[in-house]
Amino acid sequence: MKNVKIIIAGPCAVESKYQLFATAKELYQLQTSDFVLHFFRAGVWKARSNHIDFQGIGNEALVWLQEIKKQFGFNICVEVASAAHVQRCVENNIDAIWIGARTTVNPFLVQEIAEATTNSNLTVLVKNPINPDLSLWIGAIQRFQNAGTRKIMAVHRGFSIVGENVYRNTPCWEIPVALHLKYLDIPLLCDISHISGDVSLQPAIAQTATDYGFDGIMAEVHYAPEQALSDSKQQLSPLQFTNLLRSLTFSFSRNDADNALFIQRNLIKNIDIQISKLLRKRMETVDEIASIKVKYSLPLLQTEQWKKVVEIYEENALKDKNYQHFIEEFLLLLHKSSLKRQG
Ligand code: PEP
Ligand code: MN
Repeated sequence: MKNVKIIIAGPCAVESKYQLFATAKELYQLQTSDFVLHFFRAGVWKARSNHIDFQGIGNEALVWLQEIKKQFGFNICVEVASAAHVQRCVENNIDAIWIGARTTVNPFLVQEIAEATTNSNLTVLVKNPINPDLSLWIGAIQRFQNAGTRKIMAVHRGFSIVGENVYRNTPCWEIPVALHLKYLDIPLLCDISHISGDVSLQPAIAQTATDYGFDGIMAEVHYAPEQALSDSKQQLSPLQFTNLLRSLTFSFSRNDADNALFIQRNLIKNIDIQISKLLRKRMETVDEIASIKVKYSLPLLQTEQWKKVVEIYEENALKDKNYQHFIEEFLLLLHKSSLKRQG
């Protein structure tokens, strides 16, 4: 636990004064010399997909959060989605704001929010955009830098990807790692709750983030997760959260060369996972094509079609002379195995 440098936890949303104080009190009591909460997070305005869902308490919750700050000494972190929200946070002594994934996608909004933070003392956490677009994430961070914000952190919360169903938001680890390599001085946190969507996946996600050398963890924690008005499946109890942190192992502590190699090896591992999944999908598609050919009595070999496949590889991979031979061999093998499968 000593190695998780920044810890942020608290409920998805403020639901009631009782819920807020019960959660904060448990987290406070669990603090030890190796578990210090750096920010207590809580959503005040909630961006929900459906208007009939719980939308957050709004301004009144900011007053309760000030009381939490006084009673437990926590720094408070709240999501903002407009310049007006920033204003409310400043008026209510909030310490940090986070820019949610749905907001990071909108440069107009990010610009307005960034300008509203100028001259404030707010720490700004920029979550990745919903879609896997590194430049959009970097663009949002730069808008805050340009507005004069000095205390910036990046939060990886996964990406919304069609067809993925293990995670609520697919990690695509190569994206936060690329961000980390570009901005070594901006702390990178992993929001294990919104990647997972489910408590059971969170220890593995936290361990992967730790292995990649993330600087901290952000998690949704609720004194009674099953009663939560939003995201109940992904909220941990305070005790579950501290146990999760204690279960982490740290191997990311050697010299720079080892660390650099470690990051690249993990990236390769992630790429191989994707390639192997895509290959499986390609083979399944080849089977589908075979059954269509059988049904309509079409020839097995359609040379024109294969030329189109080769063009795709020429366009995307064959340009690099070093890999030309490999791709040619790979295409031969691919074609041979497709024909064999269809045969
Ligand atoms: C949240 O942290 O409560 C939240 C809504 O996050 P995200 O923007 O990552 O969905
Ligand atoms: Mn949530």
